[in-house]
Amino acid sequence: MRKRWISLLVTGLLVGGALVPASPALAAPTFKVPFPCGQSWSGQTRSDHSPANAVDFNRTDDLGDPVVASAPGTVDRVTDLGGTSYGKYVRIDHGGGYSTYYAHLNGFNVSVGQTVGYGKVLGWVGSTGGSTGPHLHYEQRLNGNDIQVRFNGTLGLYWGTKSYTSDNGCSSGSGNGTVDTSGTALTVRSGPGTGYASVGTVADGARVTIACQTSGTTVTGTYGTSSIWDRIGTGRYIADAYVYTGYDGYIPNLPRC
Ligand SMILES: [Zn+2]
Repeated sequence: MRKRWISLLVTGLLVGGALVPASPALAAPTFKVPFPCGQSWSGQTRSDHSPANAVDFNRTDDLGDPVVASAPGTVDRVTDLGGTSYGKYVRIDHGGGYSTYYAHLNGFNVSVGQTVGYGKVLGWVGSTGGSTGPHLHYEQRLNGNDIQVRFNGTLGLYWGTKSYTSDNGCSSGSGNGTVDTSGTALTVRSGPGTGYASVGTVADGARVTIACQTSGTTVTGTYGTSSIWDRIGTGRYIADAYVYTGYDGYIPNLPRC
């Protein structure tokens, strides 16, 4: 986690005597190219595209190539529109109003409600719906409106065709964090939840190496409320809400356990 919980306790702000609810701006997810690590794809934007900020991705012999989640999130649509529009498409809800679309797929590899991380295969490149040849139609949206795409925070090329190389799901080995409990030692559990057995503690201020992260019991700690748990050894998990990792959600490129 990154932000201290205390900043989130500020729920209102007095402006000119009126109580204005604070609406904390949530950072955009770190979106990555929606193809496996190391692959290069040609991404085309054009002003007559619908919606205008969508990207069409191609590479040689791309029919059937895997399409992967561009950021962690929850699959909220796995839909087949038949011979029109997106055809077979997947939508991922990334939280904070952000979503991504993956359209004209050949088939699906996920189901609605599934939690996905970087690099998770969602389906395969196809030409379903209103498509005249295999390609991936990809969109990033904020509050339902299509936005100009960014990969690792860098704006895509508008308008034109550019080669994008994926670092999505590339193994980074491990992540690091610092335990911050404001004094007390943090309980280490045998699994990702408070219901698992206590198998030890780590001291406040301890540096930990995180092998992978997963979803478990929701915990409120120094850095807010989170269901993310960090695996710091075999059968050793700690709540990410008490760990400074530099990221508010999952650590980019770190594998899911
Ligand atoms: Zn398209």
